[in-house]
Amino acid sequence: MSTISDCVFCKIVASQIPASIVHRDEQLVAFEDISPQAPMHVLIVPVEHVASTNALSDEHDALIGRAMRLAATLARQRGYSESGYRIVVNTGSDGGQTVNHLHIHVLGGRQFSWPPG
Ligand code: 5GP
Ligand code: ZN
Repeated sequence: MSTISDCVFCKIVASQIPASIVHRDEQLVAFEDISPQAPMHVLIVPVEHVASTNALSDEHDALIGRAMRLAATLARQRGYSESGYRIVVNTGSDGGQTVNHLHIHVLGGRQFSWPPG
């Protein structure tokens, strides 16, 4: 497993800093965003340190598939399957990525606008 010592999400995965964990398995950890932008704002991260979508290889295909299904499962558990929710992945500077450990935002509980700002 790859970890980066100064990566905040690696530290959350390793329980070195606290987070409200909502799911944990061998490949994925999900936790509440520290600055929620909606009634539901969960982040799903790979246990392995993957910097961004740019660092994905075919070895990660199943992982990403599982992460997307976990997003749907967590949204369903909170009652947002029918009303809808938003799944966001920011990559790089223009994409608005501020933490360089791949993460999937799962947001629900309000109407989201499009196009994004
Ligand atoms: P990005 O802008 O990279 O797509 O999203 C990073 C997200 O991580 C932000 O929504 C931010 O609030 C969240 N975040 C940053 N640091 C922490 C932290 O230490 N704990 C938790 N739970 N969330 C964090
Ligand atoms: Zn990391």
